Amino acid sequence: MEMIVQEQAEVSSGDIEPRMLENEIYNECGRSVAPGSGWFVNRVTDCDSYLEKVDNGKAYPKGEYLCTECDSKVRKRYYGA
Ligand SMILES: [Zn+2]
Repeated sequence: MEMIVQEQAEVSSGDIEPRMLENEIYNECGRSVAPGSGWFVNRVTDCDSYLEKVDNGKAYPKGEYLCTECDSKVRKRYYGA
């Protein structure tokens, strides 16, 4: 059986519920990527599970998004690119 992942309803104008967006953060630095944060359009979904993110040493494993900025810093540290 095929799993159908429903697209998360993105911002439909005038329909933003105030809520804690603990998953809408970068899992590297904890910066918010919620609508209106300025990072919303650039956010990249991390497909790892919560436990994989813990294993990978993510500071904010609840965050479902990869931070490209932190990612490039890590790359520089390891590969000197
Ligand atoms: Zn970051």
